[in-house]
Amino acid sequence: MTRAPGCDLDWGLKRLHLPTVRRLYPALTAQAEKESWTYRELLEQLIGEEIAHRAETRIERATRKAKFPFLKTIDEFDFVFQASVKRKTLGRFLGPEMITEGRSLVLLGRPGRGKTHLAIAIAYKAIQNGFDARFATAAQLLGDLHAAARRGDHDEVLDAYVAPGILVIDELGYLAYGPDAANCLFQVIDQRYLRGHSVVITSNKEPATWGGVLHDPDLAEAIVDRVMERGEVVRLRGRSYRNPGADEPSGEAGPAAD
Ligand code: ADP
Ligand code: MG
Repeated sequence: MTRAPGCDLDWGLKRLHLPTVRRLYPALTAQAEKESWTYRELLEQLIGEEIAHRAETRIERATRKAKFPFLKTIDEFDFVFQASVKRKTLGRFLGPEMITEGRSLVLLGRPGRGKTHLAIAIAYKAIQNGFDARFATAAQLLGDLHAAARRGDHDEVLDAYVAPGILVIDELGYLAYGPDAANCLFQVIDQRYLRGHSVVITSNKEPATWGGVLHDPDLAEAIVDRVMERGEVVRLRGRSYRNPGADEPSGEAGPAAD
């Protein structure tokens, strides 16, 4: 092959959107000369760095878009303190199959048991595995959909809750919701169900009692059916991590209906 006419390297790398190669090639070519790398090794190094950097920025962007209230990972979860759930049990929610198979999870327990931490950790894993995530409390989600309906952009806002591969709905059951809460929540869950997308719901109340929370037992049942088709319930017991001195409520069988 005859040599093509060269171009200005900086200009070319900019044009090809290879900022990491552009930033690193002066140092890496110098290192390559010093350490006698082959041309191929140098290319591999440069392209490897570009790919790694892109993956990092994608994760950062997706994490911002997810709107987590705080970022906690599975490695930061103390499974000795929270002995009612095993790291192994959660394994099936931490790999790419969580999203590709549209698995869902309901995390139940009283306050401070680590529900929100685990839900965020699972969604963050999904982001690391290449998917988009979204976090909202049930109250935020319902308020957001209401406001959108009034403004007239309900479909766009609904899509923001339906499109991501994983949606965390935190704190279902803590508040008294309005009369069409069940309907709004059903729309989100049903649309996600139809697309085979994952949902993680945290609650202090057993799914069997969500009918009362949402003022509509039939719709609540339809919601629970869809979530549980490819979903599991994990109950977090024991003491509150926030207040470990407090006694565990005696005879605790699950989350209290408080
Ligand atoms: P919940 O949602 O069940 O009320 P959170 O997940 O918000 O509880 O936990 C409260 C705080 O305690 C968070 O900062 C969380 O990171 C921390 N926490 C709870 N359980 C654990 C645990 N087992 N290991 C490490 N941190 C924990
Ligand atoms: Mg919480």
